[in-house]
Amino acid sequence: MSENSKRSISSSKRRKSASKTSAARKKTPAKLSAAKVVEKRKAPRTPSNRDRQVKKIASTVSRRNRKSTLRPTKARRRKYVYFFGGGSAEGDQTMRDLLGGKGANLAEMTNAGLPVPPGFTMSTEACTAYYDQRRKVPKNVDEEMEKHLRRLERLYRAKLGASDNPLLVSVRSGAKFSMPGMMDTILNLGLNDRAVKGLAGRTSNGRFALDSYRRFIQMFGDVVLEIPKDTFEREFEAVKTECGVHLDSDLDESGLREVVVRFKAVVKEKAGRPFPQDPLRQLRMARDAVFRSWQNPRAKEYRRIYDIPDEIGTAVNVQVMVFGNTGDRSATGVGFTRNPATGTKEFYGEFLINAQGEDVVSGIRTPQPIAELQDVMPRAYRELRQITSRLERHYKDVQDFEFTIQDDQLFMLQTRNGKRTGHAAVVIATDLVSERLIKPIDAVRMVDPESLTQLLAPVFDPQAWAALPTMTRGLPASPGAACGQVVFSADDAVAWSRRGRQVLLVRKETVPDDIHGMHIAEGILTATGGMTSHAAVVGRQMGKPSVVGAGRLNVDESDRIVTVDGKTFAEGDYVSFDGLTGEVKLGQVKTTPSEILQVQSGQLQSDQSDIYSRFSRLLNWADRFRRLGVRANADLPDQAETAYAFGARGIGLCRTEHMFFGDDRISIVERMILADSEVDRREALEELLPFQREDFYGVFKAMRGQPVTIRLIDPPLHEFLPKRETLMVEIARLEERGDTSVRLREKKALLRRVDQLHEFNPMMGHRGVRLAISYPEISEMQTRAIVQAACRLAKEGVKVIPEIMIPLVGHVREVRDQKTVIDRVATETMQAEGVKVRYLVGTMIEVPRGVLTADEIAADVDFFSFGTNDLTQMTFGFSRDDVGKFLGDYKDKGILTRDPFSSIDVEGVGMLVRMGVEKGREVKPTLKLGVCGEHGGDTASINFFESTGLDYVSASPYRVPTARLAAAQAALKQT
Ligand code: PEP
Ligand code: MG
Repeated sequence: MSENSKRSISSSKRRKSASKTSAARKKTPAKLSAAKVVEKRKAPRTPSNRDRQVKKIASTVSRRNRKSTLRPTKARRRKYVYFFGGGSAEGDQTMRDLLGGKGANLAEMTNAGLPVPPGFTMSTEACTAYYDQRRKVPKNVDEEMEKHLRRLERLYRAKLGASDNPLLVSVRSGAKFSMPGMMDTILNLGLNDRAVKGLAGRTSNGRFALDSYRRFIQMFGDVVLEIPKDTFEREFEAVKTECGVHLDSDLDESGLREVVVRFKAVVKEKAGRPFPQDPLRQLRMARDAVFRSWQNPRAKEYRRIYDIPDEIGTAVNVQVMVFGNTGDRSATGVGFTRNPATGTKEFYGEFLINAQGEDVVSGIRTPQPIAELQDVMPRAYRELRQITSRLERHYKDVQDFEFTIQDDQLFMLQTRNGKRTGHAAVVIATDLVSERLIKPIDAVRMVDPESLTQLLAPVFDPQAWAALPTMTRGLPASPGAACGQVVFSADDAVAWSRRGRQVLLVRKETVPDDIHGMHIAEGILTATGGMTSHAAVVGRQMGKPSVVGAGRLNVDESDRIVTVDGKTFAEGDYVSFDGLTGEVKLGQVKTTPSEILQVQSGQLQSDQSDIYSRFSRLLNWADRFRRLGVRANADLPDQAETAYAFGARGIGLCRTEHMFFGDDRISIVERMILADSEVDRREALEELLPFQREDFYGVFKAMRGQPVTIRLIDPPLHEFLPKRETLMVEIARLEERGDTSVRLREKKALLRRVDQLHEFNPMMGHRGVRLAISYPEISEMQTRAIVQAACRLAKEGVKVIPEIMIPLVGHVREVRDQKTVIDRVATETMQAEGVKVRYLVGTMIEVPRGVLTADEIAADVDFFSFGTNDLTQMTFGFSRDDVGKFLGDYKDKGILTRDPFSSIDVEGVGMLVRMGVEKGREVKPTLKLGVCGEHGGDTASINFFESTGLDYVSASPYRVPTARLAAAQAALKQT
């Protein structure tokens, strides 16, 4: 690969920005209208102790006439804990910075009178305080928590750890941005040796009480005391064997009592102290563990992938437990108001009878589709439909919700805007506009610009796909064609892909720790789990094709082999699957362009593609709101055509040297470089001219009268010659054979020239404008080719706006030198052609000195284009070709949070861009300003460029849709 082609740096990360917390807190809650649901609920048929407990929760949540406690806090004292329950809450949906997404929505639902178990949220500021004080919660936070716990106990009329009527709570993480499964949760907290008896008495269900206690000890042991989970699992299995039972649910009360004894012994042995019996201590320890989990490796990796700031912290939600595991009239489930994989308007989700919430998402049991809930618990189902439809209307977006049914009573545990694939995002946004739930401006805001690239990804070639038999089927969790070599662990996925392999991650089920492997794999295939299992949720979010719950797959991760219906496949074998249908096949299948690309290339009629029409509708809406122009970086006519079809209105960078690499050209270029005299060089350039002219003509034509910026030669000349080592080997071979032909002489001459051109630091060497200063005949030929092509089009009556750009300028005299050449040649050419075309001359700003003297330079040029690739390289002093060697260390140590070559370094390089803009416009207010580095297609960078007042961004053709949408969102953010 040439150094030049290596220099294309891809950027594909989805970015999120942190916003300030304090302003949000002051906003007035936008409340849901009062719920009828709770009031309508009938009393249970046969009241029992357990029924009474359920009714009590239901009645506390429906008590709506309490005065809101949302009062201004005393100026001196910061408030860390926010209560919700009894029909009102101290927070609301606008307070996500402070309460996290989960806490804010629990508050919002409580305010609306929905059946939410009461509780309180410890804010993200408490988490920050915990870290500020070296992982210790300040005393006042502790006091406030205790005060709120007492309030919860009063409201619920039960006490944490009490022997008669014990209160049990869940302790859950909840950051501003949802991070599914990345942080920790503890359920059934408050149980101890006394309270378990109380729970058994109150529910008349000793088995249930003991089952809850053993779950709590295990979860607490694992999450808080950091005792490996399998230590508990081994004990559990041993008791099951001794009792002669196979399923967990078959273990009776005495068996569970034994499990509890053994679990407590495990804790004592591994933690060196007995299982804590003081419930307040349990709560403090659980809270701290959740704060600690903000910094666990998988949460950190997740934040790195999704650019979630490290410093925002997580909130902790403490909430009264409701139980989906009390028997066959209880269930737990998760769902979406629309299909998050395809966007189809359908009630979507799944549930498990007699289970706790974690069982559904962990993928341990494959749950039932939510439609079946209608048959088993029709009343709860109806209520769930009503509530979730209201939530969708209220939030004006698809809701992803969690619920628990305890003895036929429905409780909402969470709602949030659902994560979705790029495909679903476009379908949902356009549908919501059609349904008049939102306006086009909201649709533009709603879709993540980065997710649009998923719609351009290839699909399987239909014939090649049909030719292979289906090996098995799973649930179509995330659409897309995936094909790769099978690996069985996340670490292997990373290792294999480092060796250049495309891999499919095949697992029994994925766990949050697999995040790095999921990120790198082409697709994810699991044997267990439903549409809302971890693999499915994360796969969708990453836009990664995923098939889950392919139950016929027997995955043996230790032997790295899978059996399915008598057949086997092993590590390294090729497997393909379709994430839209769930079909899995053995072998490699050819892919074909996506529907959108098929429409663009004319293979498919636009009116035959629903997704194409939605995609273009959304982007046309985006165009209404954006201020920044969007151009493309394209070097050849076909790329320019693609870019135009994607909506680029202009070329921001045509790297002319890429035209030199064709088979019919490279030998001429070599001759030009080897030439000993200017005369010989000019002769070679004369031969090159028609090729360049044809390409320029094609690019101009493809752009249909939009401006086209053509950059004069940039890379050092040695890039066009063979590598030194290759030449040496070839010469040695010829000599060994005794070859004395012209070929040997030519190779030797080439090697001499390669040696002459060798530079220790070519990126700072003889390249860009420096080459043109040494060899002005190169820029003369290129100018002539540009102007001749433009004149030809002008004669054909086609509008054309050439912009000739000088690269790597650091001094105004460099510009003057080249501008004289360009203007002279352009005038001569137009005279010879007998036509006049308007052309502009500008410069790239990519050397720090160019920025510092931008005012001087501006006086001599018509435009600036910021080359942020080189500007980043030269500002940091990081070689853009070698940064990969140490960037990982910088990120691990938190020195840099993101790759500055993918997303603009706002504080450093960004400041230079801002300075260049200001200095340039000071001297010449009409100066055209754009950016053509890779950052021009990156959402976060575009957001920054909007604020600098640039006129346009220029991105690679396939990123043009992302840039259009990102530019619109950036403009909307500024207003
Ligand atoms: C740049 O430096 O930002 C640029 C666009 O030029 P190149 O990547 O070709 O050096
Ligand atoms: Mg450059």
